[in-house]
Formats: sequence, structure tokens, C-alpha cells
Amino acid sequence: MAPLGGTGGPLSPAEIEANFADIKPPLDKKRAIVDSARCFFCHDAPCVEACPTGIDIPNFIRMISTGNVKGAAVEILQENIFGGMCARVCPTEVLCERACVRNTSEDRPVDIGLLQRYAVDQLVETGKQPFQRAASSGRRVAVVGAGPAGLSCAHRLAMLGHAVTVFEARENAGGLNEYGIAAYKTVDSFAQREVDFILSIGGIEVKKGQRLGKNIKLEDLARDHDAVFLGIGLGGVNALNLPGENEMQGVLDAVDYIAELRQAKEKSQLKVGRHVVVIGGGNTAIDIAVQTKKLGAEDVTLAYRRGPYNMSATHHEQEFAQISGVKIKHWTKPVKLIGKNGAIAGVELEYTRLDAGGRLEGTGETFTIECDQLFKAIGQTLTLPSALKIEKGKIVVDAAYKTNVPKVWAGGDCITSGTDLTVQSVQDGKLAAHAIDRAFRENGHG
Ligand SMILES: Cc1cc2nc3c(=O)[nH]c(=O)nc-3n(C[C@H](O)[C@H](O)[C@H](O)COP(=O)(O)OP(=O)(O)OC[C@H]3O[C@@H](n4cnc5c(N)ncnc54)[C@H](O)[C@@H]3O)c2cc1C
Ligand code: SF4
Repeated sequence: MAPLGGTGGPLSPAEIEANFADIKPPLDKKRAIVDSARCFFCHDAPCVEACPTGIDIPNFIRMISTGNVKGAAVEILQENIFGGMCARVCPTEVLCERACVRNTSEDRPVDIGLLQRYAVDQLVETGKQPFQRAASSGRRVAVVGAGPAGLSCAHRLAMLGHAVTVFEARENAGGLNEYGIAAYKTVDSFAQREVDFILSIGGIEVKKGQRLGKNIKLEDLARDHDAVFLGIGLGGVNALNLPGENEMQGVLDAVDYIAELRQAKEKSQLKVGRHVVVIGGGNTAIDIAVQTKKLGAEDVTLAYRRGPYNMSATHHEQEFAQISGVKIKHWTKPVKLIGKNGAIAGVELEYTRLDAGGRLEGTGETFTIECDQLFKAIGQTLTLPSALKIEKGKIVVDAAYKTNVPKVWAGGDCITSGTDLTVQSVQDGKLAAHAIDRAFRENGHG
């Protein structure tokens, strides 16, 4: 990351650590029992419908209420092996908890996410794997990418008796759980403990520093394995396409900075601007805006080209950013980066509106915001040159997660499966593992 030159935040290391405390502290036993008793244990529960991984929510909550915490954890993990991380990062306010029948104007939903965390954390902390591998099938599968999609697929394949090798480009496994999720959602080293727990099933070898397209080739993987699963996420970042973007110090890619923040031993050592501008309207934009504020930025402005309802960040996240002191300016887009001595000094923004045909246009009216750090958070892109069929920047798969390339399946953010959420990637990986297993049994090959 480019140095900022004397714009370090005024907060002390202790204040910064306090700012990054767990945003949703875990339930203790008493609260878990009280909250589990609030569940109506609905038949055909709408919360289950709303969960992308289809966890039997009333069943696990009932187990917690009767003191069977381990049983509850197994119930969750058999549908979602990343149940611990999903309990921390799922936007439950638009998924299970929105659907909960207790979510009315007079009441509040059952704390499904916190109850899930209560049960899963206790099992993960024992380090004991509750699932066993089936007898060896003799099949070998290559999984590319050790993120939620890749590891969910690997774990399910191992349960089904297949031998898995995971090829991961980075130093640590976990994907964005390790390098992307906001630090206040997953404090301490839970992401790595969860990876260790998942791998403890056995039969999964992880090879790090292996990048498909660089030191490994898809055709070699397909030749040497019975099937290949691609869970490579979205590595690239969209550009603003403004002069100076790549040259000016302080113009940064939000995802890179967040990765650095997540890996930092001492957050107070990170360079944070005094006046920060974030361009974007999704999870990443909200996360970088909130985290720079927590690191000590004096003011943080998030500029988004459309209105609040068009932002992919949920209403809850937008509200959280505003409560955290982030100013959100809707209907504005950057038109010029203003530099001084090789560094960003300001950004000119133009107001936007919809024309008669509903297309976005600039109004011609502009204003300037002073800034010494500007983050690009306008979406990520797939970076994989290969024979795979790509549409709208994502790998095309059929209903069984199969790509156009023989023996190759894909899932997670790198395909179009609805939402770019951790929980959806976990579900993709799990379902793809079953599809691969079916292909082995039906066709004798991938
Ligand atoms: C900043 C940020 C915050 C987010 N916050 C939330 C949140 O709060 N809640 C939520 O539900 N979702 C959130 N998301 C989305 C969520 O993180 C993703 O949907 C999820 O991680 C996708 O999982 P994946 O396995 O498909 O990809 P990834 O997690 O991106 O994992 C892909 C893995 O593949 C590896 N890889 C990539 N290319 C190659 C290659 N060529 N060869 C080998 N390995 C490769 C990568 O190193 C990585 O380990 C956030 C995303 C970002 C960027
Ligand atoms: S909808 Fe709410 S009350 Fe009904 S089972 Fe789900 S969590 Fe319980």
C-alpha cells in the first residue's frame, strides 16, 4: 500500500482495538436458553425457507432449549460446515430473521444468528470433527480456491469418500473469510480455527501458493483428477477509469486494504487518511468506510452513483455505516481525481439522476471533496484466462454446477448464483460436491 505521509489517525492503539471489538458479542448460556424459548418451532418454518443452506432452524433451536448444544451444532454443520462464520457474517436481517414470524412491529425476531454461533462455536472449540469420511471411493478431485465455496465442496467430497487436493493461490486458506470480512465481524483467529476444524475430517490436502493460470493449468488438473471444482471467487477489481487512478498515492483498492487490515498484527500501524472518500455501494464500500473510521479517519464520505435502494449493501448496513460516522452521498459519481505532489488531494464528483428512459446520467453540476485517501470499491471481477464460458463476468454453469469444460464444476462468487454472500458460496460448494458424486456414480466418470 502506498504510504500516506503523516496522515496517521489520531487514535491510540488501545482505542483502535476497542473500536474493532466484536460487533455482535456471543450469547452466554442464560441468554441462549431464554432466546431459544422465544422460538415457536413453526411447522414449515419460513426462516428455513429463507436460509440459503436450508438449515433446520427450529430443530437446532429446540435442541439448544433442551440443553443439547452439540446436537444443535451438528444439525447446523451438516447443512453448512461454515456455520460458525455464517453466524457472524450472514445478513440475517434480510434472510432468516426477516422471515421469522416473530418479526413484527410489536415484537423482534428470534436471534437465529447468535443462537447458531452459540452452538457451533462450542463444537468448533473442541476441535473434534463430528463427521466421518465414507470408505474411499478411489476418486480424486482437485478443488481450486480455499474459500467458503472450495472448502465446503472439499469437506462434502471428503464425507462422500473422495480424495481431495485443494490448490490455493494465497498463503492462508479461508478466502475472504480470512482476507475480506470486516475485522469487527470476525475478531481473533476464528477464521483459521474454522478452517482447521473443516480440514480435520481428513482426506483433504491443501497446497498453498498454487495459482491456476500461473503455476497450474486447468487441462493438467482435469487430466490428473476425476473432477475439478473451481471456487476461485472474484480476484480482480473494477477500475474508475479516471486519469491518475493508477499513479496517485493514496488511491487504493478497498479489497487489498481490507486484506492488509485483516492480516495486520497491529492495526495502529496501518496508514489511514484524515479525509477518506470511498466510491461504491456494496458490502466492500460499507466495510472499508466503517473500518477507516474505526482506524481514526477524521471524516469518511461514501459516494454512490444511485439511491439508497439501489445499493447492494443492505439497509441495516447503510444505517450501521451512518451510525459509525460515515457520510453517505447518493446520486454522485467521481469525474476527476485531483492530485498534489503525486498524491490524491481531492475528488470532483458530479450529481447524477435517471433520464426519461431510466438510464443514469450526470447532471453537469459538480462539487469537490478534499481527501488524502480514496478507496475504489466498485465491484470485483473474475481474473481467469481459460476455455471456460463466461457471461456477465462470471463462469457459466448449469443447474448441477457443471461448466462447459468436461470434468469441471464451479461455484461461489465466480458463478452467477444469486447473491455474492458467504452462505451462498457454502451452499454452492456443498451442492456441487453432491453433483460431482452423482456424476461419478451415474457415468463412472466426471
Ligand atoms: C470486503 C468484503 C466484505 C464482505 N463481507 C461479507 C459479509 O459480511 N457477509 C457475507 O455473507 N459476505 C460478505 N462478502 C462476500 C463473501 O466474502 C463472498 O461471497 C465469499 O467469500 C465467496 O466465497 P468464494 O469461496 O466463492 O470466494 P473467495 O472467498 O474469494 O475465495 C476464493 C479463493 O480462491 C483463491 N483463488 C483465487 N484465484 C485463484 C487461482 N487462480 N488459483 C488458485 N486459487 C485462487 C483465493 O485466494 C481465495 O482463497 C464480503 C466480500 C468482500 C470483498
Ligand atoms: S420463524 Fe422464527 S419462531 Fe418460527 S421456527 Fe423460525 S425462528 Fe422459530
